[in-house]
Amino acid sequence: MNYHILTLFPDMVVEGLNTSILGRAVNKGILSIEAINIRDYTNEKHGHVDDAPYGGGAGMVMQAAPICDAYEALCSRLKKRPRVLYMTPQGQVFNQKKAQELAQEENLVFLCGHYEGVDERALEMIVTDYLSIGDYVLTGGELPAMVMIDCISRLIPGVLNNGASAEIESFHDNLLEYPQYTRPEIYEGRRVPEVLLSGHHKNIEKWRREKSIQRTWERRPDLLKEALLSDKEKQFLQEYIDGK
Ligand code: SAM
Repeated sequence: MNYHILTLFPDMVVEGLNTSILGRAVNKGILSIEAINIRDYTNEKHGHVDDAPYGGGAGMVMQAAPICDAYEALCSRLKKRPRVLYMTPQGQVFNQKKAQELAQEENLVFLCGHYEGVDERALEMIVTDYLSIGDYVLTGGELPAMVMIDCISRLIPGVLNNGASAEIESFHDNLLEYPQYTRPEIYEGRRVPEVLLSGHHKNIEKWRREKSIQRTWERRPDLLKEALLSDKEKQFLQEYIDGK
């Protein structure tokens, strides 16, 4: 996967993303992350990339030309026109399903807005997806791009050491993950559930699945509507709810 981030603050994304698990994936050649400085594509003699909004109002708007020129230069270099994801609070809220879909791409372009946002014409011309990380407003699209890149990258084969671990985490199957424990066996009088020490894999798997179902019902009941539960699991959930 090759990420191309159109931004006014390249250091922020490059330093933030080239560490830990993602940094190792970059070193292994599984990912590439490049930040493209939109400012490098302005013809304005003072390097300005923004201007006041037509019609008046607070703040500044990022101009269309440097953004479109930066994207076109990238397309000429790649000899393809990759998907452009505009980070915006007005977009579809990013989730695990969207991450899975985007992880299939070879190249992804993230457009990070700043100030009051981006001239609408640039968006009309190059953007394919409008994506948000939640119903709140940030100062820029860099953090949302980093959040999405982190999430998508974990789904790319070879990025996580244990390939299976991305498959059994929260949101897989529309369920939250079961509780996790590590050493010591007793902490402040609290014991690790006996079944996890039993070595009995089938029982452990059953306990985890049941805990996932209970936890999802308690914390995110909205997810359960789309979860695929067997008849036995539906009955288990009903009994759990009735016993509450
Ligand atoms: N005036 C814009 C509006 O009301 O929709 C908000 C602009 S915001 C201050 C500046 C930039 O931050 C946006 O262009 C976008 O790239 C990014 N941004 C802010 N909140 C975001 C969110 N929840 N998800 C994704 N990007 C966001």
